[in-house]
Order: sequence, then C-alpha cells, then structure tokens
Amino acid sequence: MTLSGKTAVITGSNSGIGLGIAWELARAGADVVLNSFTDRDEDHALARQIAEETGTKARYIKADMSKGEECRDLIAQAGSCDILVNNAGIQHVAPIDEFPVDKWEAIIAINMSSAFHTTAAALPMMRAAGWGRVVNIASAHGLTASPFKTAYIAAKHGVVGMTKSVALETAQEPITANAICPGYVLTPLVEAQIPDTMEKYNMGRDEVVKKVMLERQPSKEFATVEQLGGTTVFLCSDAAAQITGTTISVDGGWTAL
Ligand code: NAD
Repeated sequence: MTLSGKTAVITGSNSGIGLGIAWELARAGADVVLNSFTDRDEDHALARQIAEETGTKARYIKADMSKGEECRDLIAQAGSCDILVNNAGIQHVAPIDEFPVDKWEAIIAINMSSAFHTTAAALPMMRAAGWGRVVNIASAHGLTASPFKTAYIAAKHGVVGMTKSVALETAQEPITANAICPGYVLTPLVEAQIPDTMEKYNMGRDEVVKKVMLERQPSKEFATVEQLGGTTVFLCSDAAAQITGTTISVDGGWTAL
C-alpha cells in the first residue's frame, strides 16, 4: 500500500515505538515529521536517515508535549497532518500516597493532554484534505491496571476514552480515530534493562524475559516496534476505513487473561 502524498506527524519519535512507527509509515510512502523535546544533531540525523533510505520527506521538529501550546505549534509547523500518531509518553512508578504531584501532572500532560491538543489542531487540516487518521498509542494499561502506576493508567484509560469521542465526532467523515494498546514492547530502553535483571535474579536472558519481564504476556514474546509500525500502517489503509473508535491490542494475549 502506498501512503505517498500523506504527511504523518508522530509525537515522541526520536526513539523506541514512535521511531519504529515513523520508519514503517515512511516505508509505506508517507512523509514523516519526527518529534521530541530535544533539539540535538542526532534528532535531525534520524530524519535525514529516514529520508535517504525511503525516498520520502522526513523532518524533525522540536516541541515539548507537556505544553499545550507547543503541541498545537508542532501541528502548525508541520503544515499538514493527514496521519497523527500520538505516541509521546513517560512512566513513573510509586504508591498513590507517595506519588509525586509533579510526576502525576507530567504524565497526565504528556501521555494524555498532548493528544487532546494535537488532535484539536490536526482535525481541521484533515477535514480540509478530506482524509485523516488519528492513531493513539495507548497501552494494555489503557484497558487493564497494575498497582503503583496510577498516573500512567489514568492517562492511558483517558486516551482510550478520548479516542472513542473523537471517532464519534468524525464518524461521518473520511477520518478515523483508533488506539493501539501494546503489551511489553522490545525497545532499546527495555533491552537495556535485561542485563541488570539477569544479574538481580541470577537467571539467563531467556528465563528473565519469559519469567520476569513477560510474566503477564501469555505469548512470552515481546511485541516489536516494527509490528506496531505495521499495525499503524494497517489503520491508515483503505481496509481499515470502517475501523474507528476502537482499540487494537498488540499484547501477546495480555488482555485475554
Ligand atoms: P521511549 O522512552 O523510547 O519513547 C518515548 C518517546 O517520547 C521518546 O521519543 C521521548 O523523547 C518522547 N518524549 C518524552 N517526553 C516528551 C515530551 N515532553 N515531549 C515530546 N516528546 C517526549 O518509550 P517507548 O516504549 O517507545 O514508548 C512510546 C509510547 O508507547 C509511550 O506512550 C508508552 O507509554 C507506550 N507504550 C510502551 C510500551 C513498552 O513496552 N515499551 C508498552 C505500552 C505502551
């Protein structure tokens, strides 16, 4: 399938899942706008690499997704936005009575409110173009809970709810809004935790992955950033034109338990 002529803005895409999604959208022909809150040479180099290898236009735009105005400005600077992937996210783990208020506010802002601002700014562009796709990267934690992650769980459930509302507001237009709910995904951040966990539990890599890290993931396999990119590309395809207001789990069976 080709997404040639479409522009995709992916928030939080200088690493991990966002970067993987950007690569797959560019491989499918879309021009991509990468984003994070930093403005380093390597951020812009990632965009150059995608452009060179896929022959699409790729740019990097700095914007802090914890700030509403910068979220809206990212979309304005992109100039057009046919595909919006709300992916930026952070985590903090603590019991609710010890949860730092600044962490609560940052997680709600980056993981949830940013999607409100970017979607509000992008929908008029999608309407003008006569086509649009909103893809929110929620989580298995947008559908289920774990202890000590109140802010993350509240934000991800909020994103799932927001997705349904946006889908209803655009239901009679050629625009869809859906949420992808990944289980545990093998990102560089997760990969980096494996050696320490092996040492802590005195286990080999395979045992640590299956028994400790993927305890709740029945497949005992990580999802990959390429699979999340592929799911995003599918949601942008004509086959997915009537898929709206729903969630797609990429979680190895986590939410079936
Ligand atoms: P990651 O840390 O590699 O990526 C997070 C991205 O968000 C980075 O590009 C980071 O620079 C960006 N970001 C953070 N704060 C930002 C800010 N203020 N403004 C702009 N960008 C900001 O982690 P990841 O695992 O790739 O996570 C991506 C998304 O996927 C998150 O929303 C996360 O909650 C979700 N998710 C991840 C997993 C997993 O197992 N890795 C599972 C389910 C959901």
